[in-house]
This record gives sequence, structure tokens and C-alpha cells, in this order.
Amino acid sequence: MAADRARLRGPEATPGESRSWWLREALAADAGTPCPPLEGRVRADVAIVGGGYTGLWTAFHLKQADPGADVVLLEADICGSGPSGRNGGFMYGLWDDFAVLADLFGTQEAARVGHASERAVDLAVDLFREADIDIWLQRAGHLIVSTSPVFDEGLDEIRQLQSREGFPADFYQMLSASEVADRCRSPQFRAGALQARGATVQPARLARGLRALVLAAGVRIYEGTPVDLIQGGSTVEIVTRGGEVAADQAVLGLNAWSNQIPGFRRSIIPRASHIVLTEPAPDRLREMGWTGGEAIGDFRATLNYLRTTPDGRIAFGAATATPGHGTDGRMSNDASWYERLEGRLRRWFPEFRDVAIDSVWGGPIDVGAHHVPFFGSIWGGNVHYGMGYTGGGVGPCVLGGQILSSLVLGRQDEFSSLPLVGFRSKRFPPEPLLHIGARLTLEAILRTDDAWEAGRPGNRLLATLARLPRRLGYNLGH
Ligand SMILES: Cc1cc2nc3c(=O)[nH]c(=O)nc-3n(C[C@H](O)[C@H](O)[C@H](O)COP(=O)(O)OP(=O)(O)OC[C@H]3O[C@@H](n4cnc5c(N)ncnc54)[C@H](O)[C@@H]3O)c2cc1C
Repeated sequence: MAADRARLRGPEATPGESRSWWLREALAADAGTPCPPLEGRVRADVAIVGGGYTGLWTAFHLKQADPGADVVLLEADICGSGPSGRNGGFMYGLWDDFAVLADLFGTQEAARVGHASERAVDLAVDLFREADIDIWLQRAGHLIVSTSPVFDEGLDEIRQLQSREGFPADFYQMLSASEVADRCRSPQFRAGALQARGATVQPARLARGLRALVLAAGVRIYEGTPVDLIQGGSTVEIVTRGGEVAADQAVLGLNAWSNQIPGFRRSIIPRASHIVLTEPAPDRLREMGWTGGEAIGDFRATLNYLRTTPDGRIAFGAATATPGHGTDGRMSNDASWYERLEGRLRRWFPEFRDVAIDSVWGGPIDVGAHHVPFFGSIWGGNVHYGMGYTGGGVGPCVLGGQILSSLVLGRQDEFSSLPLVGFRSKRFPPEPLLHIGARLTLEAILRTDDAWEAGRPGNRLLATLARLPRRLGYNLGH
């Protein structure tokens, strides 16, 4: 049995230019109230580790449900410096995972998760609107496009999903190639499907705005406070670089860094996603007809995702590499990936061939075995966790915060009773098999995606290897 303790190594601070463009923009608009590092020993009812969406939404919902709760939040760098301030800003619920959820938990429970996740997104939208915090919200929909004949199969899967019992029949609107072109012209695009309720946000404004709301609710936030050790017990003892916290309960919102917690080492594989952002070129977007603000994704297993900004830039991102078992370094910055993404961007949008790349960044994502997040309590029940968003946490973290808040408060309710709670996802193989297997299969998936995107059939051996994780029951997706 693993001891009820975890030694952690948080990310180093990433000040200045090495922060994502989103975070620099958000900090320039509003630096927020300073939250200096923890010094000395403090007590709290609840200590939350991690100042991304999971930690912040948990703090928010906790204070909503129990305004008297004494909550501290500990963040190694600054709130929103992790993937929560670096992502693509696509905000959606968990309906896209309906088929997996139905396989795992049955149709009814899958629908319950879908509805709860959709209500959570609506809650976030209303909250920021009412608080008059500008998160650049656009509800212009998500457009999923086929980029080669092989990927047309993805559209058939959407049609099948649409007709399943429990799935909202009007969730997707199927679009012909010319209807896709009416929304955005690209020589790469074929037919597609529009998920009209999908939204985009400025992700770091969301994280920093939420930080402001949480501070206003009375949560004590300590930034620049990496947690080195968590020790379970009736009082949870947390040791940080400069201080200590004793708390009745703790919440771990650590994303890909969760794989340092004993018992979870094989539940999560950290994998990277990178983004290149162009200079503004609103006239070029007008030429391409991409002025409606739709976010666009494709059917690659190593998803390409792209969107515009209000000043006319394109942010072009993709699920990229698994360099090893770490979470930092090349996960956050990898020149070889920026070159590949820039190549794709210019091929897809010849109008942008001479528009310079202004900024580049990346970050780790917490790939779980089933592509759905999971939550629960460990070490006697007073340490709670949420992880496994697998690159899709902007919307689901709102629900994650509701779930974790209910777990802290010991409530049996619509959130704590969801099947994502207490569900132990399939474990990945042990090392060194995991490392070698992940690298080999990911390379095969990437090469197969590249061949298909270029309209080539691809190498049969690689395609077989690329399908191996799914055959073994892992739905790694993007
Ligand atoms: C490039 C990229 C693009 C993405 N695009 C999308 C998208 O368009 N839509 C979508 O839904 N999802 C997207 N995602 C995923 C999404 O960003 C995440 O699922 C979400 O941000 C997870 O939030 P979190 O709070 O769980 O994790 P994080 O935001 O990673 O927060 C965890 C925090 O814990 C802190 N931490 C770690 N270790 C310690 C420690 N020892 N002590 C103290 N603090 C510690 C970290 O500094 C970090 O701030 C993307 C991710 C990346 C990297």
C-alpha cells in the first residue's frame, strides 16, 4: 500500500515573454490583486493545491455553497500560468464523449453527465456576464471539418451519435463543403458539422477573472508557493517552499502534475499541446470569409484546433508530442512543433502565407485512458482529486469544481452522484513499457494523421500500430 503522502515538484515560474500571449494580454488588462507567497504556518478548513480552473472553480463553488468555509489556495507560479491560461479557449461540455460515457456507465448516466456539463458551461457564461468581466466570450459554435476523404468517416460517426438514444438530436448540424466554405474557406476543408452551442473564451482572462471572484469571496490565495509535500491524516499537512498549511481537507487540482501522486502514476500520461498565434490580419480573415468567430477542429487523433481573436489573428494549435514522463520543458516550448504548425497554418490558409507568427507556446495535458475526467477522494476520504480532462477542460472544469465542492462538503447531490466520481479509469501499463509504448504509438498516430491529411493512404503497419491503444481499450483521442 502506498503511504498517504505525495512528494510534488511543481513547475518553475514562467515570467515575462515565456508566458502565453493570452496570459500576458490578461495581465496587461488587469494585473489583479497581488497574492504573495505563503510564509510561516497557517490553518484552514480546506487547502486547494493548483491555481488552474479546477482549483479556482472548486474554491468558487465551495464559497457559494458555504460562505463561512475558510479556504486557502496554493499555486506554484501564478493562477492561470498553467494550461488554464494557455489553452485554445474552446469551451464545451462532455457531450462529445457520449459514446465513451455510455459504454462505461450506460446511456442514462452518460446523458446525465452531458446535461450537467452543459449546465455548467451556461453557469460560467452567465457568471462572467453578470460580474461584467470580459472573457471575450463568443458563442459562435464549433465547426468540425473533414480535411481529407479518410476523415469523412468522422462525419458518419457524428451522424450515428446524433441518432443515439439520450443524445440531443439537434446537437450537431451537418454542413456540406459549400456550407463550410461559407463560414471559412480553405483548400483543405471538405464537409463538416457545426455544434452551435460551442463557445470560445480568452482562456487566461477566464482564469484571472475567476481568481478575482474567488478573492472577493474571501479565499486566501498564495501564488509563488510550490507545494513540496502533502501528508494525509485527520489533519492534512502541506509543506510549501516557504511555509506550511494544516487543513481538515485538501483538493488536488494538478492536471498533468497529478501523475506524481502515488496511486495515480499510471492513471495519467502527460502529453503536450502547442499553439502558434499570428499577427492580426483581419482583412485576410475577411477574404477567407472567416468572420463569424467559429472555432474550428478536425478529425485527426492528434487534433488540429484553430480560432480567431477579436483583433483578427489566428491561433492554430494541435495535440503534439509525449516527450517523456515529465510535464515541463519541451511540453511548454518546442521549436520543432511550432515549425510544423506554422506549415499547416500556411497550407490551410494561403491568405496568411506572409502574415508573421507573433507568439508561440505549449503546455501539458493530462491524458486519461478513457478521454473523460475522473474525480474522487483518497487517504481516508479528506483529500479529493480531479484529473483526466485530456485536453478538454475549459468547460468540464466548471463541473469539476461543482463535483469537488460537493465532495468537500460531504454532500450527496446531483454532482457527487455522477458516475465520474469514484470511477478509477483503466491504468496505463507500467514503466518502461508505458514510456516506450506511448512514444511508438504516438509517432505512428502522428504519421498516419499526417499522411491522411495529405490525402495519402499512409503506411499500413503504422496505421495498425496507431490503432493499437484503442484495441487495448484506451481512448486517447486528443
Ligand atoms: C496548449 C493547450 C491547448 C488547450 N486547448 C483547450 C481548449 O481549447 N479547450 C479545452 O477545453 N481544453 C483545452 N486544453 C486543456 C485545458 O487547458 C485543461 O484541461 C485545463 O486548463 C485544466 O485545468 P486544471 O486546473 O486542471 O489544470 P492547470 O491549469 O494545469 O492548473 C494546475 C495548476 O497546478 C499548479 N501546480 C502544479 N504542481 C504544483 C505544486 N507542486 N504546487 C503548487 N501548484 C502546482 C500549476 O502551476 C498549474 O497552475 C488545452 C491545453 C493546452 C496545454
